[in-house]
Amino acid sequence: MTTLPTAATERRHLTAIRAAWLFDGTNQRLMPDPTVVVDGRTIVRVGSAVAAPEGATVVDLGGATLLPGLVDGHVHLSFDASADPVSALAGRDAAAAFATMTSFARAAARGGVTTVRDLGDRGYLALGLRQAATADPTLPEILAAGPPITTPGGHCHFLGGDAAGVDGLRAAVRAHAERGVDIIKIMASGGNLTPGSRPEAPQYSRAELRAAVDEAHRHNLPVTAHAHATQAIVDGLAAGMDSFEHLTFMTADGVDPIPDEVLTALARRNVTVGMTFGLAPVPGAAPPPGMIARRPAMVANGQRMLAAGVTMIAGTDAGIAPVKPPDVIRWAIPHFQLLGMTAAQALHACTAGAATALGLGHRKGQLRPGYDADILAVDGDPLSDPAALHAIRAVYVRGTALPR
Ligand SMILES: [Zn+2]
Repeated sequence: MTTLPTAATERRHLTAIRAAWLFDGTNQRLMPDPTVVVDGRTIVRVGSAVAAPEGATVVDLGGATLLPGLVDGHVHLSFDASADPVSALAGRDAAAAFATMTSFARAAARGGVTTVRDLGDRGYLALGLRQAATADPTLPEILAAGPPITTPGGHCHFLGGDAAGVDGLRAAVRAHAERGVDIIKIMASGGNLTPGSRPEAPQYSRAELRAAVDEAHRHNLPVTAHAHATQAIVDGLAAGMDSFEHLTFMTADGVDPIPDEVLTALARRNVTVGMTFGLAPVPGAAPPPGMIARRPAMVANGQRMLAAGVTMIAGTDAGIAPVKPPDVIRWAIPHFQLLGMTAAQALHACTAGAATALGLGHRKGQLRPGYDADILAVDGDPLSDPAALHAIRAVYVRGTALPR
C-alpha cells in the first residue's frame, strides 16, 4: 500500500532557498539564479529562475553560491587536532572522549562538512555518535570503522584494534561486523602518527590482508587500507582492497614512482583512493622537512593517477594535527587542482564523488530532488576562486539551518 502525502503536509515544511549560483556536485559550470526547495530533511526541487512554491518560507541568500555539504571520507573524530592528539585522547575516559568527539563533529558541520567517515576511533565511540547524529541536526551524518585493525604494537595500536595472523584478522573483522561498523579499516603499512612505526614498511602479509578482505566481504562490508609503503599497496591490491588511504608510495627517504602495473590495476578495478589533502593555515605549523622534500614526487604520482582515471576522493585525516581541523576539507581543493583537476572536479571529489565512494551516492553529495538537504552556502564563486569556500553564509544539515 502506498500512502501519498497530502498537499497540506507537503507545504507545511517547505523552504525555498534562493541564491545567485549553484554547484550541484557534478556540473562543470554554476547554475544561475537557483532555487532549492526543501521539505523537511529532503530536497524536493532544484531549478533556475523559478518561483518559490506558494506558502514556502523563502530564504534569500543574495549573491551566495549553493553547494552540496562537503563529504570527508577519512576523519578521526576522537583526535582533537591538537599538537599531540594521541596523548590528549589517552588522557580522556570514554565519556570525555565522546564529548570531545561531539564538539569536533559539530565543528565539522559548522564548517560545511555534512558527512564524515571516521576511519579509526577508540572503543567504537564513533558508532555511538553516529547514532546520536540521527536525532541531532547539529551533527554531520557519520559512517564509522571502529578501531582500525593493526598489528600488536603497530600503527595506532593504542586505539585497541590489534590483530595478527590469518585467524586473528578474521576474528577481528567479525568482531567489528558484530558491532555494526560501516567499513573495515586496516593498517597495511606503518604510519607517521605512531612513534616507532615505519610508514615505508608493510605491517601484514598478503595472506593476512586477503583473510581480512574475504571476511569483510562475507559480512558485506568494504575494506579500506591505510597504505604508504609500495609493498603494502601491491599486497593490498592483490588481496582485493576496495579502497586505499594515503597511497604515498613512501620509502625511508623518498617516494617510489607508482609501478605501472599498480596504476593500471587501480584504474581498471575502480579502486578508490582517499587523498590525504587539505592543510589549514596555522601560524608556525610547517610540515616536517621530509614531507616537503617528498612533495614533488607525490604530486607527480597523483598526476599520473588522475591521468590514468583513478577515482580519487578527499580523505583528509582531519583531527591528527593542528593543520587538520574538523573542516580541513575546504583546504583540499587547491591540492586536487595541483594534480590537474579543475575546481569543479576538485569539488566533485569532495561532494558527489566522495559520497558515491562511501556508498551514499543516492542521497548525499548532490543538490538534487530526493537527496538529503545538506547545503553549504558561500559568498563568491568557488569555481573561479576556491578561497570563496571559506566565506560561509549558511549550512543546512538534513534540512536544518545551523545557527551562525
Ligand atoms: Zn587516518
